[in-house]
This record gives sequence, C-alpha cells and structure tokens, in this order.
Amino acid sequence: MQKLIDKAKVEHTLSKSEIVEILKDNSLNDYLFKTADEIRKNYTGDEVYLRALIEFSNICRCDCKYCGIRRDNKNVSRYRLKKDEILKLADFAVQSGYKTIVLQSGEDMFFTAEYLAEIIKEIKQNDVAVTLSIGERTFDEYKILKEAGADRFLLRIETTDENLYKKMHPGMSFENRKRCLYDLKSLGFETGTGSLVGLPEQTVESLADDILFYKELNADMVGIGPLIVHPETPLKDEKNGDLILAIKVLALTRLLLPDINIPATTAMETLHPQGRIWALQAGANVIMPNVTFEKCRKNYEIYPDKVSVDYSKLERDLKQIGRTISKKHGFRGNSDSPLTRHFVPPSPAGRGKNNNIAKTLRKNVTPQELKFWNIVRNNKFQNLKFKRQYPIGKYIVDFVVIEKMLVIELDGGGHNTNNQQKYDEERTQYLTSRGFKILRFWNDEIDKNIEGVFEKISNVLQKKGE
Ligand code: SF4
Repeated sequence: MQKLIDKAKVEHTLSKSEIVEILKDNSLNDYLFKTADEIRKNYTGDEVYLRALIEFSNICRCDCKYCGIRRDNKNVSRYRLKKDEILKLADFAVQSGYKTIVLQSGEDMFFTAEYLAEIIKEIKQNDVAVTLSIGERTFDEYKILKEAGADRFLLRIETTDENLYKKMHPGMSFENRKRCLYDLKSLGFETGTGSLVGLPEQTVESLADDILFYKELNADMVGIGPLIVHPETPLKDEKNGDLILAIKVLALTRLLLPDINIPATTAMETLHPQGRIWALQAGANVIMPNVTFEKCRKNYEIYPDKVSVDYSKLERDLKQIGRTISKKHGFRGNSDSPLTRHFVPPSPAGRGKNNNIAKTLRKNVTPQELKFWNIVRNNKFQNLKFKRQYPIGKYIVDFVVIEKMLVIELDGGGHNTNNQQKYDEERTQYLTSRGFKILRFWNDEIDKNIEGVFEKISNVLQKKGE
C-alpha cells in the first residue's frame, strides 16, 4: 500500500479501487498523514488561513436528516440577522485582521440574491475576500452574487451516493446539487465542496467516489466533516462518524488535489480535542473561527456541542506544530510557496500520452541506460526501487526512486545544444519545485567511471537520510 501512497504523492491520481484499498487498511495511516502533510507543506506552505464565519440566519427551507437546524426541528429558536448586524460583524472581523469573511446561513429565501449583493458590495469596500455558504440557488442568482464581488462559494455535496443523498435530503435533487456546483465553477467562484463521513449506509466505496468527484470538479476547497449525531434529528440513534476515517479522506484529498484549501473542520475538534490539530497535520491548511454574536451561535446548532476557536490557544497550538497564522486572503494557488506558482496540473489526456511515450522510451534504451539499469534493477542497489522512463507530470525522467524523491538523468551529447539546455533547465526547475532532487550524469561518466557515479548517488542518498 505504501507504493500507492507514493504514487499519489508524485502523480496526484489514484483509481477508485486504490483509494478504497487505502481507506480500508489502517496499517499505514501515519505514513498517509505524513505524506499528505508533506504535500500540503510543498504546495500551500506552513501558513494557516483563517476565515471569519458569520452565521447570519438559521432559518432553512430544507430538511436534511442529519442537521440540527433542519426545517422540521421545532425546538430551535430561529433568528435572522439584519443587514446592519451582518455588516457590524464583518467590520469586527476586518478590524481583527481577518482576510476572508464567510457568510453562512440555512437556505433562507428572505435573503434574495439582490439583497445579499448589497451586503457583499459593502463588505467588499474592505480588502477582504467574501465566501458564501447559503445553499442552492439558480444560475442567475449565483451570477448576481458573483457580480457583486463574492469570491468563493461553499456547497458540500455531502455524499456522491445518489440513493443515500436522496434518503438524507428529502425533497432535494442530487442532480440539482451537482448543477449548482458546476454553475459556480463556470461563473468563476472558487468553489468548495465536501462530504459528511459516517452517514448511515455510507460505504468506503462511496467515499472514494466522493474524493474522485472533488477531483473531477477540480474543487478549490474541500471540507470533510465527520457526522456528529444531533438528538433532535431522525439520525438521533445513529453513531457518530469515525474521526480517523474522516482524516484519511482529508489526507487522500490533499494527495489528489495538492494545491487546494482544506479546512480542519470544527466537527473534528468537537469529536476529539486534538481533532483539529490532527487534521492540520494530515493535509489541512484552513480554520474558520466563528465571529457571530454569542447569543446566535448556540442556535446555529447543526450538530451538538460545537466547539469554538480559542484564538490564543490556536496560536500556541499552531506554533507547536511549526505553523503560523497567515495574514493573506489565501486564494487557491496564492501562497508564497514556489511550488504553487510552478504547479501545472497535467491533463489526463497528457498523462496518457506521456505513458505511451514512456513505454516507447523504455523499449529504445541506450547502452548507458542499460548499463545503469542492470546495476539498479530488482532493488539491487541499496535495496531501492528504481523505475525507469517514468512520467512525472508533463515530463519523463530516465530513472527515479520515488521513496527518496531522487531523479537520475543520463545525458548524451544532444544535451549540449542551447534549446536542449533551456528545456533541461525548465524540467529541472519543474521537478525541483515538486520536491525531487535531480542528479545528472554524462554518458561518458557511465562508460568510464560507473563506480564514481554510484559513489555520488550514495553520497546524496546519505545526505537525504541525515
Ligand atoms: S444542512 Fe444546510 S440545507 Fe440542510 S437543513 Fe441544515 S442548514 Fe438547511
């Protein structure tokens, strides 16, 4: 299974059966989390983005079976903030240094797109990003909100198992949910989605489908929450979701979508005091502190015992794990990480093409490559697994040891030309930016001093292990 995780680390793809295998096997969880954390660090850096959450209405027309503020729960004290109250909270968030305001509500149609647009325009007078989490609307409504200046939109798919979706969301349409997400993408919103882990009858196969759906959508943010059972809902007799399984889904999402934003959700900390920190160490890079009036917060109880973010504790906790609070807006790909700037996701078509080229190259091996290969094949050199003519992103490398992130290139005379040198430089920059160390040897060195070549490789490996 380690091979699968290593493959995902390099190629950022996995098949459904490979995801299922990883989700079912808990023997390498630490390795999975560590690898996802490495990818998070490489692509989004060590900064954690904070989003100030304003829950402006707990009135909802929907009746989602797991949700404490569902329409049919009559034991909720309903509230709807006025425009000036929302702006007051937004102002507080701006003064406190937040660079993103998240406006969240149930599906409350009192807030028409036009009315929300007025609020968004006022908030956007400040240097902040606005994220909306207000549920399903029409394309035209989303367009009004986008034109008003909203930057991002959160709409979790919750589950991609259509039958389960229908059972959990009476009166709602799975097709419409997907339509909304694709509309948001097409309008240029940074689009967030995600799932609940632990719904009754949910399978690991459907969780694998969820992850592949995020990839297919090219989601910009993915929020994973373990189910926390609310006593006032039809799911009151069910069990809570499995926190570790939820963190595994998060980690796999990070491996497949390396540069996106992934929150460490409040639900994770609600299930375990360390839940949020574990998520941050398994691929997450966002936290959403709630800035809503205290009196409203207790009535926005999607699930019970929701914890709040204690800012000074958060700072301390983050410091302990080598992370800092960002002062930036935190758009996808807008970090200081050079990896993000260089990242060009290879298209599936391109990958297929590269695989074919790699196969051809493997057949047309040069004498030097053959000599090198005969020494390293079948784990003969330091028990390392060398692969040859291996596609990484848009390039094909001569040899790679994935577990050591080491690429070895053997160059002939053709690499002396200006064009080839420029190409080699770009390729080196690309591979370095993705965490690989590249060693280049001339064919001449392979012919005349193969011992020297392997001595160099040993030295580099030794340094990497120190
Ligand atoms: S999950 Fe959202 S849409 Fe569903 S009932 Fe709760 S607030 Fe409404």
